Amino acid sequence: MKKTAVVVSILALLGSAAGALQAADQELNVYSARHYQTDEALYGDFTKLTGIKVNRIEAKEDELLERIRNEGANSPADVLITVDASRLAKADELGVFAPFKSALIEERVPAHLRTDTWLAFSTRARVIVFNPTLVKGEQVQTYESLADPALKGKVCTRSGSHPYNLSLGAALVQHHGAAKVESWANGIVANFARAPKGGDTDQIRAVAAGECGVAIANSYYFARLMNSTKPEDQKVVESVRFVWPNQQTTGTHINVSGAGMLKHAPNKGAAVKFLEYLASDQAQIYFADGNNEWPVVDGVKTGNAALEKLGSFKADTTPIGAVAGSVTEAQRIFDRAGYR
Ligand code: FE
Repeated sequence: MKKTAVVVSILALLGSAAGALQAADQELNVYSARHYQTDEALYGDFTKLTGIKVNRIEAKEDELLERIRNEGANSPADVLITVDASRLAKADELGVFAPFKSALIEERVPAHLRTDTWLAFSTRARVIVFNPTLVKGEQVQTYESLADPALKGKVCTRSGSHPYNLSLGAALVQHHGAAKVESWANGIVANFARAPKGGDTDQIRAVAAGECGVAIANSYYFARLMNSTKPEDQKVVESVRFVWPNQQTTGTHINVSGAGMLKHAPNKGAAVKFLEYLASDQAQIYFADGNNEWPVVDGVKTGNAALEKLGSFKADTTPIGAVAGSVTEAQRIFDRAGYR
């Protein structure tokens, strides 16, 4: 009798230990700066697939990074989802990411869209939008052309210190070197129609209204206006023209939504599974459709009306990690040029 009792209690112990291990592996804490209508399906499908429950904390990009730093070694965060290479680079610089290895990710995500510590799961392009009554299309086919004195008083952008513009500046540094980008930034500032203000959509609207002749904006903002059923948005789209910049040269600058596993992640196994899930066809479609972006995995189709209408383009394939690495330099250049 006594022997049986001991065996039973050992079994019970083993059982609870296995249970505890399983519980640790069956949870995942995601800090996300992204929020989409399709989130329930996106995270629900991962749980269905793996049995791993996802706890989500959503906040603004910079707040999440701050929070992870403050939590330090006690942070429950396993995965950080954010946008723009410059922010991912900052997270990297602060040392919050842990390197991960996955044959599946290496196979599915193009090499220029990942680093050792993070991967892009969707892309967006930085495009040019112009008002055909104020500038000619042939004047604004490249980022470089926006610094041309012929466009004096015509150029609008959001703040030069915004990550979107810093990443563009960083890509230009990769192509032309710092000195040329500094004269470019000086030229942009000299060409302003007004001091930078508002977001990318505000620049597009100002181009439509004729306040600006030409502006830079992320593609999804334009796609959102195209897909909008509001008459005022349709009017904006009709009043402006859209350019894929640098088609004859370096290709259009693209940026990313991306994710990485955190150094102090308590559930590293689940974290890698989740990063792999981000590269699955299903998750690729959720993310791309959620914000009118493009999947990074070759051959995944989304059926977004606006993106289909805009068609395909030659993208700049400079490794996104290299672009991210030049962001600090771009910031210094823009500061000197007074591009704020
Ligand atoms: Fe945005």
